Amino acid sequence: MNALLEETQRRPKERAEKLRAYIAENREKPCAVPGCNCLRDDASTYCNAHRRRYREHGHPTLTPPTPAKLKALEGLLVRWLSEPAEGLSGTIFADRLALWDAAQAKLMKPARLAVPFFVLSGAPGYTQRAKADVFLAHFQKRGHSNGAAMLRWMAVRLWAELRFYTPPGKQKPATELNRFVNLHAGKFVTRRAAFRRVGQTPGGPKRTYKTDGMAGIRRAIGAQLANAVEFAVTKDWIYGGQLLSAAQLLI
Ligand SMILES: [Zn+2]
Repeated sequence: MNALLEETQRRPKERAEKLRAYIAENREKPCAVPGCNCLRDDASTYCNAHRRRYREHGHPTLTPPTPAKLKALEGLLVRWLSEPAEGLSGTIFADRLALWDAAQAKLMKPARLAVPFFVLSGAPGYTQRAKADVFLAHFQKRGHSNGAAMLRWMAVRLWAELRFYTPPGKQKPATELNRFVNLHAGKFVTRRAAFRRVGQTPGGPKRTYKTDGMAGIRRAIGAQLANAVEFAVTKDWIYGGQLLSAAQLLI
């Protein structure tokens, strides 16, 4: 195991048994998506198909934003970030740029975290946060900018403010929205990090490695991007200025 990466804890036995009992009961219930007649899958609120969509896209029924829409929103955000708004003094604007740079710097990972893919697979496994660090290290090693990833997070957040609705059967709107935004922003990083899945453990056979799921890693990357954006422009950026009305015209 890599000493730099935090490992996950095993689930206690009693909890595993409780979960089994819950699953047995849950499987008798219908999927929470209106109009879907399938039964729920394991512990999910959804049937197998909707569960997979929820996991992959952060929503069982909503069509996620297209890359073209997100690019357009990024253009809007770049203009917003690089033009001092009316009433914003020169000093505050300079501070804002400095904060943006500092936020990018906070996201930097040590180059030695860009470990081969096989390190991420296998029991007991690392935490999603640790795997997110590895993907970010590869993303950075390939010369991609943290600022571009932060910008993507903001574009998805803007899109979600206008188009996202709480998935059926889910009770926490804010949690679901963040989950969705983090997932899609994280995808931007994992696609560009693209490090080789084929590899060899020392002395082992050559094989293609898989992690236990990209969705969790993507959300963990997105959570780091969310913190960086909050550090740079606070949580209220989305409600300031004409951003939302300008975004509405683009999507
Ligand atoms: Zn369903």
